[in-house]
Amino acid sequence: MDREAVVSARKILTRLHDVMASRSHAQAKLNTVVEVIGGGLDSEVCSIYLLREGMLELFATRGLAQEAVHVTRMAIGEGLVGTIASNAETLNLAEATAHPDFSYRPETGEDKYHSFAGVPIVRRERAVGVLCVQHADPRRYEEVEIEALQTVAMVLSELITNAGLVDEDEGLIAGVQHTGPEQLLGLTLVKGLAAGQAVFHQPRVTIQHVVAEDTEAERQRVYMAFDKMREQIDRMAAQAEFGVGGEHDEVLETYKMFAYDEGWSRRINEAIDSGLTAEAAIERVQQRTRMRMRQIDDPLLADRMHDLEDLSNRLLRIVSGQLGTAASMGLRNDAILIARNLGPAELLEYDRRRLKGVILEEGSLTAHVVIVARAMGVPVLGRVRSLRGVIREGDMLLLDADQALVQIRPTQGTIEAFDTRFARNRQRQAVYAQLRDVEPFTRDGTRITVMINAGLRDDMPNLALTGADGVGLFRTEFQFLVSATLPARERQTRLYRDVLEAAGDKPVVFRTVDIGGDKVLPYLRHNDGEQEENPAMGWRALRVALERDGLLKVQARALIEAAAGRTLNVMFPMVSEPWEFDAARDVFESQLKFLKGQKKVLPEAIRYGAMLEVPALAEMIDVIAPRLSFLSIGTNDLTQFLFAADRSNPKLAERYDWLSPSIMRFIRRIVTSTAGHDIDVTVCGEMGGRQLEALALIGVGIRRLSITPAAVGPTKELVSKVDITEISDAMAGWLATPPKNLRATLHEWASSRGLPVD
Ligand code: PEP
Ligand code: MG
Repeated sequence: MDREAVVSARKILTRLHDVMASRSHAQAKLNTVVEVIGGGLDSEVCSIYLLREGMLELFATRGLAQEAVHVTRMAIGEGLVGTIASNAETLNLAEATAHPDFSYRPETGEDKYHSFAGVPIVRRERAVGVLCVQHADPRRYEEVEIEALQTVAMVLSELITNAGLVDEDEGLIAGVQHTGPEQLLGLTLVKGLAAGQAVFHQPRVTIQHVVAEDTEAERQRVYMAFDKMREQIDRMAAQAEFGVGGEHDEVLETYKMFAYDEGWSRRINEAIDSGLTAEAAIERVQQRTRMRMRQIDDPLLADRMHDLEDLSNRLLRIVSGQLGTAASMGLRNDAILIARNLGPAELLEYDRRRLKGVILEEGSLTAHVVIVARAMGVPVLGRVRSLRGVIREGDMLLLDADQALVQIRPTQGTIEAFDTRFARNRQRQAVYAQLRDVEPFTRDGTRITVMINAGLRDDMPNLALTGADGVGLFRTEFQFLVSATLPARERQTRLYRDVLEAAGDKPVVFRTVDIGGDKVLPYLRHNDGEQEENPAMGWRALRVALERDGLLKVQARALIEAAAGRTLNVMFPMVSEPWEFDAARDVFESQLKFLKGQKKVLPEAIRYGAMLEVPALAEMIDVIAPRLSFLSIGTNDLTQFLFAADRSNPKLAERYDWLSPSIMRFIRRIVTSTAGHDIDVTVCGEMGGRQLEALALIGVGIRRLSITPAAVGPTKELVSKVDITEISDAMAGWLATPPKNLRATLHEWASSRGLPVD
């Protein structure tokens, strides 16, 4: 804003402030407002249209016929006023009648006015009215006048809402949208369909006061907020230097650039000079940038724009003290959560009944947040770009993770088509439900064991619902992730006992805590408080548990006590060398001895297993196998180590395929090395839950799968149609002479035999 605009906006704002503070009636206030603005901008006409019952109604005017007030009404999208509201965009025209959307209203007597400028009055990102000025001379309004008009419109939005002149939710109810229906594409992370309102994990701040009481105080607030924000960004950047790298770094670089951008802070200061509060000034500058950017069609700039939006929102949250996430405020309706990225613990804070879907700007298939969402049965779409410019808080969304897209503000037709797909999905689910009591035998009579992965008490009903053979992986760290503090032994015992009771006769394999990597516990920091360069390959899982053996001891005791009188199946994550398994087992054995001494009821038997997630262990199977009852292949970690590709790095999410000859050969090698040892071999990574991958695994000799509950039905369906000899021969051929694309080859092979493959 230049000086002139600042001065005229300031003058108008000072007068508006008095009007707002006066005790007069709302209508009288509006009548004064149009006089103040018209006079301040030296405009013959100044009018305010407000949204009432879905129509834009002329509420006050200076210059137009007074008889038209509360009579002239425009639909959204109708005429210049309706166009401004529906696009939430400014119009500045030297000759109003020349605009294709011009619609003449004789009752207003506006025919003598040629030039026209109008700005939307926005509340919570939705247009709730329009403020416009008109002149007899055909001239375009100066940039400074438009600036002043936009600033005034912000103030008006406060006055209007405080006076109860528009329903705060009306923009939403009346279907007034920032833009029309849109569709965005992404990467399917968890399949499924969901409908709900858009909820941003980091919500946008609602601005309470727009006009400043004390400009100097507002300036100080912004200075302090900038300092704090820069500090946060610097801290994040310093951590990232030792952290994940990749995309994250680029984002942080951009953040840093904006955070220290003098131009940005100067513009905010100027907006404060014009009489706005710190919050309103930040928002005002952001609105202006948004409008400018909309005119430039450049995807790279659009990306930058999101970063600035993010940062601007961060600054707003700091300045207003509104720091909580959407979870802390609670979900009020069925919601689709939107975030750049999330940790598993953050996701678990949401109300499971209301959380219907998740959309991430980043995300990858095996990131733990995605695993948690899969366990919760919540569809997730990842890698969705440009969503901030398109989706607004509260927008209606139809998430179709099956087809990797989201429909935003859908039309009635889209909603109906979606409902049909919902119904078809339910039918398919019903078919799977019928398979609940059918044992999974292949066509040639081999029994495949199909178990579920779980992690919370709430997951246990899935066992009965799916008819699975047991819980092949119970991720005990989920309880740690959802707790604010380290769960005490009694709480652990209670959970494990409940889980065993819920499982009845079916086995449950408890995996001891796997914390570290992307499962960060705020209350369990490193001894030395340092960040790790490669957390996935760092101080995690059994490594933490053995170093802090207090942790493992407590868990061992809890598991042993909970399994009193039953068989306890326990396995250790990330075993890299056989001695680590021995050390962990020793912790259990000494706890067992201690409890025996206490004359406690003990488990009937303890079966010990190791997870094979670190490739090095595959070379030691002959050594470790005699000490094991079972081995569980954790393909999520195993594949990230085999490909040297971080499972949480969104840039690598689509680069390597589980269905590659190298992975399949590796798994076959594990199966072959265990032959002759009396141990069960299970695959418990995410890949086992996909039909095509399950087929390939069966083809290399895997007979036990532990998968996400939603995949049990589809897997049973697949198993019933598989001929083991056929798939084994085919896989043997492809692994001996790998085709160019194993996935495509297998898919074609399976489809031609009528096998269900997703
Ligand atoms: C795995 O790594 O495949 C696994 C099952 O464990 P998690 O995903 O919990 O690391
Ligand atoms: Mg793992």
